[in-house]
Amino acid sequence: GDEDLVLWTDGLSKLFGGIVALDDVNLSVERGELHAIIGPNGAGKTTLFNTVTGKLDPSEGSVWFDGEEITDLPQEERPHLGLARSFQSNQLFNDLTVLENIRIVVQTVNSGSFDLDLLGDGQSKFRDRAFEHLERVGLDDQHGVKTTNLSHGDQRRLGIAIALATEPSVLLLDEPTSGMGATETRETANMIDELQAELGLTILLIEHDMDIVLSMSDRITVLNQGEILATGPPDEIRENEAVQNAYLGGM
Ligand code: ATP
Repeated sequence: GDEDLVLWTDGLSKLFGGIVALDDVNLSVERGELHAIIGPNGAGKTTLFNTVTGKLDPSEGSVWFDGEEITDLPQEERPHLGLARSFQSNQLFNDLTVLENIRIVVQTVNSGSFDLDLLGDGQSKFRDRAFEHLERVGLDDQHGVKTTNLSHGDQRRLGIAIALATEPSVLLLDEPTSGMGATETRETANMIDELQAELGLTILLIEHDMDIVLSMSDRITVLNQGEILATGPPDEIRENEAVQNAYLGGM
């Protein structure tokens, strides 16, 4: 029911000049679910993520998190509420190590709170927690490596570990398997599954790999030309006629 929604948008629209990137979008994300956003190129998936995280202001409508309206909340304050997005490779500090990258983000997000004591007693606590997150993404043995020397896949996994270090309840993942081969894609999907199962995270995911989307998701939202075409569990989406016509074609 509605009381289980952790994140939702109400009549969200975004215009870029004359382009309607989002058109009256009512997204609803239930607590604990793995919810995939799919749709053809230019459907508005990234714009939806950017308005939810506060990177972009919507033209109309509102964004809600845990019962609170956050439409006007600055982007940097949203992680405090438990809303995190995986870091992109271009957000990493290339000359710093894996562990140092995590430390900087935790310091920034936690500034002002007791957890900031990363040099005193907090130092060992920080390391323990950081290593937990690195283990989850399979990067613990690379904690001392400069991020510029990481593989593409490892950089993406570090981006997830950094987001985890902010201790979110809702995690947004932007194409976590892009650029990965079949084996690495499968491993990453399993890792995401474990984040949901073991940490109880709510996960909102943009993903192009339909096998992953259909096998992992609890629910799927299909965007097309800025509008929601359908929302539902994978079986329902697979059989939805409007979705097939607009997008899935040969499924
Ligand atoms: P893709 O799968 O290709 O990443 P997407 O579903 O993420 O696509 P968006 O990137 O959100 O789609 O783009 C939605 C529409 O808004 C597109 O028509 C795009 O060209 C346009 N758009 C996105 N960002 C901007 C911007 N900053 N300025 C102008 N137009 C933009």
